[in-house]
Amino acid sequence: MTHVAVIGGGCAGLAAAARLAEHHIPVTLFEAGRQLGGRARGISWQGHTLDNGQHILLGAYSETLSLLKLAGVDVQQAFYRLPLQLTVQPDFELRACKTLPAPLHILAGLLQASGLTWQERWSAVRFMAWMKLNGFQLKQDESLATLLARQNQPEKLTQYLWEPLCLAALNTPLNKASAQVFLNVLRDSFSKAKADSDTLLPRLDFSALMAEPLADYICAQGGQVKRMQNVENVRHDAAGFELRIAETTESFSHVILAVPPFRLPDITQQLPELAPIHEQCQALQYQPICTVYLQFDKQLQLPQPMIGLSGGLGQWVFDRGQLYGQPGLLAVVISAEGAHQHLTQDALAGTLSQELAASFPALSSTLKNPLWHKVITEKRATFACSVDLQRPQMHTGIPNLYLAGDYVAGDYPATIEGAARSGAAAARAIIQNS
Ligand SMILES: Cc1cc2nc3c(=O)[nH]c(=O)nc-3n(C[C@H](O)[C@H](O)[C@H](O)COP(=O)(O)OP(=O)(O)OC[C@H]3O[C@@H](n4cnc5c(N)ncnc54)[C@H](O)[C@@H]3O)c2cc1C
Repeated sequence: MTHVAVIGGGCAGLAAAARLAEHHIPVTLFEAGRQLGGRARGISWQGHTLDNGQHILLGAYSETLSLLKLAGVDVQQAFYRLPLQLTVQPDFELRACKTLPAPLHILAGLLQASGLTWQERWSAVRFMAWMKLNGFQLKQDESLATLLARQNQPEKLTQYLWEPLCLAALNTPLNKASAQVFLNVLRDSFSKAKADSDTLLPRLDFSALMAEPLADYICAQGGQVKRMQNVENVRHDAAGFELRIAETTESFSHVILAVPPFRLPDITQQLPELAPIHEQCQALQYQPICTVYLQFDKQLQLPQPMIGLSGGLGQWVFDRGQLYGQPGLLAVVISAEGAHQHLTQDALAGTLSQELAASFPALSSTLKNPLWHKVITEKRATFACSVDLQRPQMHTGIPNLYLAGDYVAGDYPATIEGAARSGAAAARAIIQNS
């Protein structure tokens, strides 16, 4: 009899279990932590509801949005939806044209972008046209820095546009980032429907927004969601697979391993057939994401809920007053490795307050004096999405055992959508054979 174990309650595991539950396939999800959501989760800190990082989605995140709808989430209410608009301090602004279809909406936006010379705008348009002409496909992967140099992209354009987009999407520095994966993201968000390029800013912490509704849906369809169940070992048995959890064991016909790649070799060491996958997992490198929450006077309001920063350590600032009803609370995000890693938390918060004060002179007296700060650093936030990276495949070579997770081979970098697509694909493989 089919009974699927999904190990890991992050976006990939939840997506897999929800899709199986949708098709009435018996499923049990095991999550080691108290909380679901993995690297996209809400946290409670001294009475404040924060997130482990500030998450944003794109309109092109079709699987994630479809899952949210499946779980009954009102996507209109759950997100603040911004038609493509990129503002980077001090003077760059790109707004997609409202009346033209994709991709003309972005080309027109680039031609009218402020903070760039005509020559710089034209370089961006030429590069976009070149990508479209080549079907967003490179003959050979290379670093994004190399591609930008080959395409004669001026420094200012890189600083205001390509680098912020690369860090936000791939969480990998330009000189290491895979140009092909970057182009995959641009293809999906800029070249199809106009709504694909919208930015979706959550209005709830991510556990409340995604993990909990999906868990409720799985249970409502007859599945099981078990928290604080650390699966220590997976091995073959007569029914298919035996999972060891603390002192107990449970048997399943199928298993989807939706744990992070650095946990996988450990729990599957009794499956020697997975040795090549273990090697691939061990070869992955990681990049951090640091989120610094700064509470200011409750009257503070930024001109927009999400603004890019340039020339300092901070990369993006989010106004949680406008998004989450947390007045005066800003979240500053720093993606990938960098100089900020050498600062103490207090020094980092102080530096970012100064940077904010300099970026928003009209608000500088308020921005110099945070009332409190909280720094959250996820050291292994994502795998480093480097050139020609060999990622493990979903099919493990062992019948009825699949991998799911943002690191599994696919078009996307480590994102919620990459994880959701991967989980849904593993579920589909089981559904098709059931
Ligand atoms: C700070 C930060 C900001 C980010 N911002 C964005 C963003 O804006 N947009 C975006 O799209 N993506 C963003 N990402 C990336 C995105 O969050 C991840 O790509 C995605 O959540 C990964 O999901 P996953 O299910 O593959 O892995 P995980 O979320 O890591 O889930 C794995 C789960 O497995 C559980 N587990 C591990 N071992 C066991 C075991 N032995 N037994 C049972 N359970 C186990 C873990 O506890 C965890 O819950 C961000 C990530 C971070 C850290």
